[in-house]
Amino acid sequence: MSKEVRVRFAPSPTGPFHIGGARSALFNWLFARKMGGKLILRIEDTDLERSSRESEENIKAALKWLGMDWDEGIDVGGPYGPYRQTERLELYKKYTEKLLAEGKAYYCYCTDEELEEERQALIKEGKMPRYMGKCSHLTPEQIAAYEAEGRKPTVRFRVPKDEQIHIHDMVRGDVVFESNGIGDFVIVKSDGIPTYNYAVVIDDASMHISHVIRAEEHLSNTPRQCLLYDALGFEKPTFGHISLILGKDHTKMSKRHGATSVDQYRQLGYLPAGINNFLALLGWAPNSEQEIFSLEELIHEFSMEHVAKNPAVFDIDKLNWINQHYMRQLDADAFFEAAKPHMIAAGYMTGEEDGEKLAWLQKVVATAKEHVSFAAQIPACVEMYFNDEFSFENEDAAAVLKAETVPTVIGMLLEELPKLETVDGASVKALFKSIQKTTKLKGKDVFMPIRVALTGNQHGPELAEMVPLLGIERTAKRIRASLAKAGITL
Ligand code: GLU
Repeated sequence: MSKEVRVRFAPSPTGPFHIGGARSALFNWLFARKMGGKLILRIEDTDLERSSRESEENIKAALKWLGMDWDEGIDVGGPYGPYRQTERLELYKKYTEKLLAEGKAYYCYCTDEELEEERQALIKEGKMPRYMGKCSHLTPEQIAAYEAEGRKPTVRFRVPKDEQIHIHDMVRGDVVFESNGIGDFVIVKSDGIPTYNYAVVIDDASMHISHVIRAEEHLSNTPRQCLLYDALGFEKPTFGHISLILGKDHTKMSKRHGATSVDQYRQLGYLPAGINNFLALLGWAPNSEQEIFSLEELIHEFSMEHVAKNPAVFDIDKLNWINQHYMRQLDADAFFEAAKPHMIAAGYMTGEEDGEKLAWLQKVVATAKEHVSFAAQIPACVEMYFNDEFSFENEDAAAVLKAETVPTVIGMLLEELPKLETVDGASVKALFKSIQKTTKLKGKDVFMPIRVALTGNQHGPELAEMVPLLGIERTAKRIRASLAKAGITL
């Protein structure tokens, strides 16, 4: 019988939840769901200075927002808890005592200064800096002397010599490391807190993790972890290291490339469906050309065999394209809800509106539906409905109003507009048509001056959409102000 699939997402809660972390979580989640396995959420908080509960909360909130759930872990519990490393210190201690008793680990009393000296000396000799084993065979007398000095020891793992460490990685294939390239490394710090490489092994083994899917940057840690699995007599999981995420310029993704945390994208009004879809394609590719995937489809299609070795490039234009697809799919209410915080932030609404005002806002916001990639773009897209005091976009726009025929066109419009019984798209269109017919002008010579007079701009939404939303009064007021600005009298 094949082993139950048990994967884990094990973030360190040390800051904003990075988009790369979300991608690791998603790949684990998809793999678990696809294989009918379990996802465990474990918090790796052994960096006491940098870890915070606030960051842990952020991670949880982001995962929930993205629609990912977990079967065991913090909050939900499970048979192998606790699921926060700082609550598992007793367990690590038990294994440390075992390793010490078996001579597979030893106390090291070297100070930071001594270690740095050794490092520099090795670098000077052109050798790879690593711990050379100064404390690996201390006598009881030497230990007593160090203790008497009040030195607090770390615990180091005794790395076996001349071993080859073979890793069969689901993504990277066979990778081989030499144990001689690894110095005896610290597994427990002088304050008794385990290091990442040590705690992760005990946790993954004791939580019966079958597959470790994580970022490529941890590949170099894997040989150390494999040595620990062997020393502790644990069975190794299958590893899968997913590629780095690079910016569009092919350097490592960083703040320079724009927003890097999930929360920033949430605040900009990207949709979970868009983010998930985009993240899935960061390193994984389906068999087909399909690019739009719902979570359900992703679960169905996802496989580690199609996770690529080469780095994934974070292409914001692609994210925007994908997210736009999901923005367009929102129904009117959901689109309005998505717009709301951004409209409030822009000062275009308070959120308290009701009745006619609310209905008007809903119509205005709806005009942005086809034109935005994410909700924070909505206010700029509807700005013209709120700002009566605009200036001409450029000289070309102003020049449009200088045409000979403009006073006739505008004059007719201002005269006929108040006579409309209903002001809607159809009646406004009909009015434009009749002006065109009477003046015998080309469509452009009718529409363009009206557009510029109304918005200061040569481009923008349909006039027939805009005029009813602005209403006759504001339309007329804007046009008169523009004519005055351009020095035109009717
Ligand atoms: N706490 C580690 C990190 O956030 C997890 C590494 C792993 O998955 O083993 O990078």
